[in-house]
Amino acid sequence: MQISVIGCGDAFGAGGRLQTSFYVRSRSSRFLIDCGATTLVGMRRLGIGLDDVDTVFVTHLHGDHFGGLPWLLIDAKYISNRTRPLVVAGPAGIEARFVALAEALYPNSTRAEHNFDLVFVEYEERQPLEIGGITVTPFEVHHPSGAPPYALRFDADGRVVAFTGDTGWVEALYDVARDADLFITECFQYDETLPIHLDYKTIDANYDKLGAKQILLTHMGEGMLVELEKVDTSRYMISEDGMILDL
Ligand SMILES: [Zn+2]
Repeated sequence: MQISVIGCGDAFGAGGRLQTSFYVRSRSSRFLIDCGATTLVGMRRLGIGLDDVDTVFVTHLHGDHFGGLPWLLIDAKYISNRTRPLVVAGPAGIEARFVALAEALYPNSTRAEHNFDLVFVEYEERQPLEIGGITVTPFEVHHPSGAPPYALRFDADGRVVAFTGDTGWVEALYDVARDADLFITECFQYDETLPIHLDYKTIDANYDKLGAKQILLTHMGEGMLVELEKVDTSRYMISEDGMILDL
């Protein structure tokens, strides 16, 4: 299994990093985890086409995590001329939020005829969902975004990749991270504890209980980026746009 960091930035463009999106290539399926507004740009940089994507898994309904979907739609219609379905999995209400977004950006884009089906699937708390030979289990976290936000735990090729999405600290993260081959955690702040985001000090205080085999820090805000030299690199990898990890 291979994971490419398409974007590891926050919502504010900190460090000039692209918004959140990861690309996972497994034997049975190739998928995006989150699709921030800049995702199609990041895919182009890495030579990933929409034809290389079977499914998009969205953690929560904030623009820097799902705002890139309208550009996938217009790529599918006008550039890659997609014919097979594109499955988008996300929180309850994702289809209505997507339609409102896409119609605001490109009027009639969701109404006009297209040659492929856009299929929306909604998560249910801790209910494993099988799509295209991989299994994802959603865990509700804490990050108000107009719909339940989730951390996601993926099982593919006998490997486990887990991602916090955006969240303040919640104990559910122990279940998300446990024994994961790769646990990707947002790390918006260094030592400032916020109710809806994680910080390095809180993550590190829970390092042993998280019990992941490898941890990748992502979604770093300005307050975290200026403290990067304090990160214990024997415990954590620091994400960069374009980084590729083999599991
Ligand atoms: Zn975010």
